[in-house]
Amino acid sequence: MLSFLTATKVPARSQLHAMGVCASEAQSEAKSKATNGSWPDGVDLSGLDLSEADLAVLQGRGFEATVGQVEIISGTERPRAVVGLGPANKISLGDVRKAGAALARAAKRMQKVSVAITDAVPEHIGRNEALAALVEGIVLGAYSYGDFKSTPKPNELASVCVVGAGGKAVKHALDTGRRVAEAVCFARDLVNEPGGSLTPAKFAQVAVQVAEREGLEATVLDLKAIRKAKMGGLLGVNRGSEQPARFVELTYSPESGADCRGSVALVGKGLTFDSGGLSIKTGTGMMTMKCDMSGGAAVLGVMSAVAAVAPPVKVTGYIPMTDNMLGGDATRPGDVLTMASGKTVEVLNTDAEGRLVLADALERACLAEPDAIVDLATLTGACMVALGPKVAGLMGNNEAWITQLADAAERTGERVWHLPLPEDYKAQLDSPVADMKNIGGPHGGAITAGLFLSNFVDEQIPWAHLDIAGPAFTDTEDGEIPKGGTGFGVRMLLDALINFHPPTAQVG
Ligand SMILES: [Zn+2]
Repeated sequence: MLSFLTATKVPARSQLHAMGVCASEAQSEAKSKATNGSWPDGVDLSGLDLSEADLAVLQGRGFEATVGQVEIISGTERPRAVVGLGPANKISLGDVRKAGAALARAAKRMQKVSVAITDAVPEHIGRNEALAALVEGIVLGAYSYGDFKSTPKPNELASVCVVGAGGKAVKHALDTGRRVAEAVCFARDLVNEPGGSLTPAKFAQVAVQVAEREGLEATVLDLKAIRKAKMGGLLGVNRGSEQPARFVELTYSPESGADCRGSVALVGKGLTFDSGGLSIKTGTGMMTMKCDMSGGAAVLGVMSAVAAVAPPVKVTGYIPMTDNMLGGDATRPGDVLTMASGKTVEVLNTDAEGRLVLADALERACLAEPDAIVDLATLTGACMVALGPKVAGLMGNNEAWITQLADAAERTGERVWHLPLPEDYKAQLDSPVADMKNIGGPHGGAITAGLFLSNFVDEQIPWAHLDIAGPAFTDTEDGEIPKGGTGFGVRMLLDALINFHPPTAQVG
């Protein structure tokens, strides 16, 4: 685990000292009148401890201070790194996070590193916010998943010293950044674990361990209890599997006397593997389907850090857990399930199973009458068609709540886009034999999935749905995001909880 400390000077034991560098506000202008102390390509290195020879090295390597560009200069008593932050007038917290991640990768064989990266960040970005983003970037960039390697090569970076002013606020920024990023890494670990290893029973066990460590209330429903709760959606999906389902509920309550602005329910789809069931997926389509519990992983990730971050709100996480397999008694297309709410669903496609387990979880969340609900699910390929691999679909029944979540996403560098839930599209879910069917027409599948879920939400409760099918898993490394599980949603949800205000009762 990475530790962060502060010092006023570069510590003697630091093996690398990293300095942040911005490109100038108008690179082209600077290029034409480059003079002493100004980098010929418009990069301002004047304030840094670099010799003429160092500058020549950087120039030779074409250092332009683009976001995440890292150059290590050795030859003196201690290697130094310059870390690009991009143009000073455009810099964002996301850029600082990316720069931190790039540094963590470049320095992965060094145990002790010191940084003075946020010194270069212009004042319009708060220093402590920048520090938290830097720490997040370093932890997220240092992440690797080696649980199934016979000789794992983890990132060796163990301690990072932030050089500059210390104090309580700085320590808080470092702690928060670290806890949030560790929660993201924990979610990534869960997503990256194969479906045959992270069974529903094990997933539930991990959740209980988190609850014990963090002082949360935990309830685990086993198959018998799930039957008793009449969760027909979860049971219907679990029917073709040898692995019994679980339903996990974890609750965080602010300390008595602390500010408490209400309660939020987080619901995460926990499909530990999705073969599609009898409506079976293609071989290629199944390769990444261990990631179908990413929503549940994000919820558990949030719960793993919520006590440390201590938002002013009661938080309950609900995670229905099962895999979707093809055993001899698997749910058949055409079967009708009776959900926990009593509503009936004709299952025409057994691969549209996420909404079935979420329906029961949403019903249960509503019974507790929270001030707001948000669910996260790798729900539809249609959402990826609409928004591509990096943006989540955001929809719901309450504009104020949707705005709070979109703002949290914006602040934390996770991308969402608001999709509509047009009431008249609901007719696509009409079934001749049951209250509804589990699939809509050929187009707008992300929306009809959202509309399906809305049938199981009390319309007086502000509710939002995040379709994270795109950003939950990736096969390309990008900034602070590694290949595999991304931990998408953890950062924005923790931020939304910290800044939570009960949304107005307005619905629509
Ligand atoms: Zn599916």
